[in-house]
Amino acid sequence: MDTLATMNILVQKFGGTSLSTQEERLHAAKKIMQATSQGYAVVVVVSAMGREGDPYATDTLISLTGKISPEMPKREMDMLMSCGELISAGVMVATLQSLGVQAVLLTGAQAGIVTNESFGDARILRVEPKTILAHLRDNHVVVVPGFQGATESGEQTTLGRGGSDTSAAALGVALEAEAIEIFTDVEGVMTADPRIVEDAKILPVVSYNDISNLAHQGAKVIHPRAVEIAMQRNVPLRVRSTFSDGPGTLVTNSMPDKVAGADAVGDRIITGIACTPNVTQIQLDIDGCENKPEVCKKIFRGMALADISVDFISVQPERVSYTVRHEWGAKAIGILQNMGFAPKSKLKCAKISLVGGGIADLPGVMATVLEALEECGVETLQSADSHTTVWVLVEKEHMIAAIQAMHRKFQLGT
Ligand code: ADP
Ligand code: MG
Repeated sequence: MDTLATMNILVQKFGGTSLSTQEERLHAAKKIMQATSQGYAVVVVVSAMGREGDPYATDTLISLTGKISPEMPKREMDMLMSCGELISAGVMVATLQSLGVQAVLLTGAQAGIVTNESFGDARILRVEPKTILAHLRDNHVVVVPGFQGATESGEQTTLGRGGSDTSAAALGVALEAEAIEIFTDVEGVMTADPRIVEDAKILPVVSYNDISNLAHQGAKVIHPRAVEIAMQRNVPLRVRSTFSDGPGTLVTNSMPDKVAGADAVGDRIITGIACTPNVTQIQLDIDGCENKPEVCKKIFRGMALADISVDFISVQPERVSYTVRHEWGAKAIGILQNMGFAPKSKLKCAKISLVGGGIADLPGVMATVLEALEECGVETLQSADSHTTVWVLVEKEHMIAAIQAMHRKFQLGT
C-alpha cells in the first residue's frame, strides 16, 4: 500500500487503430514519454495492431482457423486469439526501447489478471498487482497486452470484444491509478459517430452513466464494461486522440462544472446518439388469440430456449413486436413458424438510441424525435423511451439520414 501511496500511476490504453503502422506507434510512444516526463509511473495496455486484413489483427487470427475447422475448441481459440495483443506488446516494447525508454512486457497472467473460465468471454475476478508494482518501482514502463488474462489454474483466457478497454479499466482500478486514458483515432467521445455525422461535437465531460448507456447502445468508442469497472471506484477515464494534443473527453461523476469546457453539461438534454445497425424486427398478430398472456409467454420462452436474446419488446393486445440480432433472425422466425405462428419480419433494421440524463426532465423529446424523422421522410417502425434514453427503430437504409436529422434537430453540433 505504501507504494501505491507514493506513486502516481497512469494507465494508458492504445487501440488497434492507433498501432497499425510504426509511425502510429511512435505517436503512441510519444504519449507514454509525455506521461513519464510528468512523473507518472505508466502502465500501457495495447490492443492487437490494426483491423481485419492486417496480419496480426484479432479478426485475421480468427479467420486463420475458421477456414480449416469452424469448430475449433474455445480454449485453444483463446490461446490463438490472444497472440495479436502479445505481438503488439512486443513491438511496443521495442519501440519504447528504441527511444531510450526502459520497458518490460507482462502478459495478462503475469500482470495478475485472474479471470473465470468462460473462454472467449471471460470475466475478471481480481487483479493481483504485485508484479506490475515491482516493475514500476524499478522505473520501468509496464506494457500489458489487452484482452487477456488467465484462470486460477493458469489457463489463457480472452475477455470478449473490446476487451482491451476492460483490461485497462481493471488495471487502473487495481493500481488505484490517477486516471485511465483510452487513446483512439478520434478526438474523444462525440455527440455521434463522426463517421456518420460530420459535425459531431466532442463532449468535454460525460458522466459514467451517459457514456455507459451510449456504449451499450452501440457507440464503439469505449466498451461498456470498462466504464462500469472504472465507475465502481470512481477512477476518472479520459478518451483522447493518439494523434493530437486535444484534451479529449473526461468521464467522471465528480464536479463536472469545475472542469474546463464543461459549462454546457447542466443544460444538456441529449448527450449523444448511438446505433445498432444489424437487427431484425419480428411482429406477431395475436388479435384473435385466446389466453394472450399464455401466447406471449410461449413466444418469449421459445426465444429463450434457443438462446436468442430479444430487445425492443412491445406487447399490445393485438400485437407483439420485438427485435433480435440480425444473425438470429432466420432461426427466430423458424421457431415461431414451428409453433404455428405466422410472424412478419423486417430483416434489415437499425436501432437508434438518443441518450441523455436530461431526457427525464423535458416533455416533448419523443415528439421532437418523431418530427425530425418525419421531416426527412423516414418511417418509424417502433419507438420506446426511458428516463435516460429514447429508442427508435428504422430501416437500415435510412439509419444515416435519421441520425443526421436528429442530430440537427437537437442542435447537437452547435
Ligand atoms: P480503437 O481501435 O481505438 O479501440 P474503436 O474503433 O474501437 O477504436 O473506437 C473508435 C471509433 O469509435 C471511432 O473511429 C468512431 O468511428 C467510433 N465511434 C462511434 N461512436 C462514437 C462516438 N459517439 N464518439 C466517438 N467515436 C465514436
Ligand atoms: Mg475499441
